[in-house]
Amino acid sequence: RKRDGKNGAQVYDAAILDKTRERAEIESDISAGIAGKWFEAHFQPIVDLTTGIPIGFEALMRMRHPSKGLLSPSRIIEAAEETGTIAEIGRLILEEAAANLARLSGLPDMADTYVAVNFSPLQFEPGLPARLAGVLGRHAIRPSRLIIEITEAVLMHDNPEIRAVLNEIQNLGCRIALDDFGTGYSSLSYISRFAVDIVKIDQSFIHSLTDASTDVGGKSKMLVEGIRAISHQMNCEVVAEGVETEQQRSLLLEMGIDYAQGYYFSRPREIKELMSELSAGASG
Ligand code: C2E
Ligand code: CA
Ligand code: CA
Ligand code: CA
Repeated sequence: RKRDGKNGAQVYDAAILDKTRERAEIESDISAGIAGKWFEAHFQPIVDLTTGIPIGFEALMRMRHPSKGLLSPSRIIEAAEETGTIAEIGRLILEEAAANLARLSGLPDMADTYVAVNFSPLQFEPGLPARLAGVLGRHAIRPSRLIIEITEAVLMHDNPEIRAVLNEIQNLGCRIALDDFGTGYSSLSYISRFAVDIVKIDQSFIHSLTDASTDVGGKSKMLVEGIRAISHQMNCEVVAEGVETEQQRSLLLEMGIDYAQGYYFSRPREIKELMSELSAGASG
């Protein structure tokens, strides 16, 4: 295949063809994965910065492909959102999350931990609150132990139907977390217009805290402090995402951030692995 500039058009066509093939492959993997039960949830602890103890776990989707191994979610989710299969995948992950939270609850100090589940805009159909109540009831989980993570995409059009569903979810006693905070167009306006319970500061801001190349004049520290102050004034708890270093951890603690999540504390783990770590009292 020619790759020189003279034949740019040809290279471009080939790239589009590759993309189309790759996309078709993802879509066929999704169908096979739903039929073959290849989807699973891995769990990443969210810790209290003052104690280092997990207060909850984020459920992160993985596809265990029989020949390709364990696949990460980003491109799968993107395809599933476009084709609508996200609804089905979301139901499977919610079920896994609830079943595994029930198992975790038996371990010492884990009875009050929560599970946080990511939801795409398409999942906010009118039947969702009733389905959540059903899943929680079946696994005997108090609603306050389920957190629904949404991004600005869910709030963007201020759809009255979605607003009603979010209200019903909160009336059940579940909490709403606004994910990837600060990366969208109008993060601040969303926390003032919607009753968000938890703000998750996007990992790009956390990485900038200790990266001189993306932190001109120490401004990312001001940004994180500002997000913390505004969130607390609006009665939201604050979680810092993507904490990778001790330096980031101690800065965030100094700034009064409540909770944190990231490789520094733990990578996302399979439930078996997580349970044996927690029962051994290890944290890494
Ligand atoms: P997210 O919700 O922002 O999840 C956090 C992502 O950051 C996860 O990637 C996690 O593994 C990664 N991460 C955690 N700690 C660190 C760290 O210290 N450093 C770095 N560099 N990364 C860290 P993952 O698991 O690949 O998930 C990617 C995205 O896929 C998620 O981003 C979420 O938007 C989406 N996703 C995952 N599971 C689901 C699901 O069940 N449903 C929906 N709708 N989306 C999901
Ligand atoms: Ca999330
Ligand atoms: Ca996030
Ligand atoms: Ca994200």
